[in-house]
Amino acid sequence: MPKPKPRLTTNIVPPIGPYSAKICFIGEAPGEEENWQGEPFVGNAGQRLNWSLSTVGLMRPEVLIANVFSQQPPKNDVNHFFDNPISRKYPKLTPEGEEHVEVLRVFLRRLKEKSNVNIIVALGAPAMWVLTGHKKIENWRGSLLPCTLVEGFKVYPTYHPSYVNRLLNERQEKKLSGEKKKRAINVLPVFIRDLERVKEQSHFPELLRPQREFEIDLTCKEYIERLDYMTEHEQDSAVDIETLPSPEGPLLWCIGFSTSPSKAFVIPFIKGRSFAWPIEQEAKILQAISRFFLCKALKIFHNGAQYDLPVLGRYYGLRCADGTYSDVRWLHHASYPYIRSRLAMLVSIYTWEPYYKDAGKVHYGKRTSDVQEFIYNGRDDCCTREIFDVVLQDARELETLEGYERTIRCSVSHLSMTLRGVKIDQTKKAYLTRRFGDQVAYHENAVREETGTEYNLNSSDQKRRLLYGELGLEIQYKRSTGKVTVDKEALQKLKKKYPDNPILNHLLEYQKFKKLLSTYAEMELDTDGRMRTTYNYVSTWRTSSSGSPFVFNLKKKDQAGGNLQNIPQRTEEGRKVRELFIPDTGKIMLASDLAQAEDREVVWDSGNLERIYQYLSADLDPHWEFTKVIFSMPSNMKYLPKVKYKDIYTKEEHELKWYRDVGKTIRHAVNYDMGPYQFQAELAGRGIHLPFGIICRILETAKASDPFLSEWKRNIREELKSTRTLITPLGRRRQFFGRLNDATYRAAYAFKPQSTVGELLQLAIQDIWDKHDYIQPLLNVHDEVVTQIFPEDLQRATAAIKNCMEIPHIVGDRELIIPCDFKIGPSWGELKEYSYEEIMNSKDPIGDFAPWMKKGK
Ligand code: URA
Repeated sequence: MPKPKPRLTTNIVPPIGPYSAKICFIGEAPGEEENWQGEPFVGNAGQRLNWSLSTVGLMRPEVLIANVFSQQPPKNDVNHFFDNPISRKYPKLTPEGEEHVEVLRVFLRRLKEKSNVNIIVALGAPAMWVLTGHKKIENWRGSLLPCTLVEGFKVYPTYHPSYVNRLLNERQEKKLSGEKKKRAINVLPVFIRDLERVKEQSHFPELLRPQREFEIDLTCKEYIERLDYMTEHEQDSAVDIETLPSPEGPLLWCIGFSTSPSKAFVIPFIKGRSFAWPIEQEAKILQAISRFFLCKALKIFHNGAQYDLPVLGRYYGLRCADGTYSDVRWLHHASYPYIRSRLAMLVSIYTWEPYYKDAGKVHYGKRTSDVQEFIYNGRDDCCTREIFDVVLQDARELETLEGYERTIRCSVSHLSMTLRGVKIDQTKKAYLTRRFGDQVAYHENAVREETGTEYNLNSSDQKRRLLYGELGLEIQYKRSTGKVTVDKEALQKLKKKYPDNPILNHLLEYQKFKKLLSTYAEMELDTDGRMRTTYNYVSTWRTSSSGSPFVFNLKKKDQAGGNLQNIPQRTEEGRKVRELFIPDTGKIMLASDLAQAEDREVVWDSGNLERIYQYLSADLDPHWEFTKVIFSMPSNMKYLPKVKYKDIYTKEEHELKWYRDVGKTIRHAVNYDMGPYQFQAELAGRGIHLPFGIICRILETAKASDPFLSEWKRNIREELKSTRTLITPLGRRRQFFGRLNDATYRAAYAFKPQSTVGELLQLAIQDIWDKHDYIQPLLNVHDEVVTQIFPEDLQRATAAIKNCMEIPHIVGDRELIIPCDFKIGPSWGELKEYSYEEIMNSKDPIGDFAPWMKKGK
């Protein structure tokens, strides 16, 4: 039996506010400040609440504020009131906790009788649980729920202001990455939006839910009638599919349509684990869907080009007519790229539909009923339709619509790449799997032999024990979190410090090969032996690639296949992985990228005439010119890669190629105001290790060498301060909300160049796809487009690609045309660079650039 907790002796902090209030906020428990002052929410959380209320036009004195528990618990830990904490499946209050809840119940009853309160806001998970019985705040925030503690109230759960403060803490923010970082960036705008929604609901007490009607069980004839009606009247409709995983790829479970937020019809394709229709009827339904897809009405998806359209395109041959695909995810992203755009989030900020994503959810293996799934699909359709109108209006007001429309137009060619996929050299893949596997085993063995102990090298804990315990190496701390680390950066630092220690090298190699093995050499392919990837858009609207819509890894419960951005760029192993990607039989690979594109954008925009001249002049290399300035080399020194030179910083001899490489990285670092640590890590990634002091001096020299760049950045900061908006040379707008700190400024410097280059490339790929069907785009990774062509088309394809890629646009007040480079090869990893002139002037292009095709390779 756990010992009963002693009763609290802290002060009782009663609720505060007028009975005339329409809104009552309920927090968890008082903190230190509240205990002293005897009033809820007067400390930091209170300040956040007051500030947020005022931004939505509410004043603290006009609302009621209370807590679930009216005494400060030890260490401000609300779990003091729980025998089984709130994070468990079945939370349970202590007797003292129950007493507090009883007091709250009495208070709320009195409110019901005497006050004007129309809505209760539950601040944080404990308040939500006590008031409604629901637990996960990330899921339920934004949903209107009935109060179960005292019937008759509606409850709106949102984040606790302390949680908002915690995530907004700058020092804390730096420690975050991935999903957590996104959450941190989202937290304040979402909290404010919640208060706006609360204000809207505070005018009436009724809990009104959207009324939606779902038709899930119609006859074949009725479904076709509905589809034909939509086609005939060109009604814009939301569309969504659900699928079931199978070894052959996803099976269409159902498809839903919604022309208004209040109704949807869902056509089942599988029912009771078998096909829902006889084949003739299924064909008729598919024909009706196709007629609708090909009419002028908008087909509104959420993430359509990334999932629904590839599946419908590949297995059912369905295509949307040009210009009729629309997507709420990307439309929302165009206006608010920093807010998470999954449908559940959009539903919670734009509609009054309560959280429903777990209803009818497929837990792979454990499946709920068809009916639940179809209703779930119908709800998705209605919500998507409802959200579309709101985000469209926002995009019009924020002038982000044009950029969105351009991206959507270009998504056609990216969708075609997803559908086509790339052939994979299976023999090489098997060989690479063996080779990488051998390397993993070799380095694992070597560590075992060196230490005489069996360590699990995948466990950070065991690696910590090995390195800092047994070997007694200097402990490395992660800069952002201050925690002891054995990550790659730490291992590299240790290797530099202890060059004679063989274990460090083995560990680094083990990790490298393990990752390559699991991510690429063993990557799961499609049933036809090809690798497919989907393209998403990051906040600058460049593309990123992620898993295949067609291959589902049941073990990882995720789409398999590839994030191709992460294949190491400069290493031998990365090249070997790329060699697996080959063109179809009889074809060659022709790749093209925009040369030094981002730097050109920066240089043109900053109006640095000297550098513009260097870029325009055929016999000057701007990177080399810059390198000479940074390393104080003689200004007339020629670039001869193998020649050695001793510089003023390292006082060591390196080849000129080394200097040019470092120079290029420095340029990138200063363009975007990279900090010294990140710059050091960036160089280390290229195998260049420089001490921190030198790194700082180099960065200082580089910054001082380009006053135009400093002015350019100052202008961007001014623009942000005055308008919070940046507009790219191609007219794409982005607003920057939140704190104007270094991280925001860095994102702002990168926005214009990165967005423009990404977009130029998307426009080019679309143009190639539209105009030249003998050129098949295969991949878009980083700033490169990889295509496949028949070798005899090499020259005309090169000319066509050049035409599509070199798009004139005005940057600053000058025209900029970024020239493109070409590469040709038998695989992605064996591409060789050639100039446009070389290719075009050749009398025997196949012999000169694709000789293996002659040998019949
Ligand atoms: N946190 C709460 O939940 N309530 C307060 O009164 C203060 C901080």
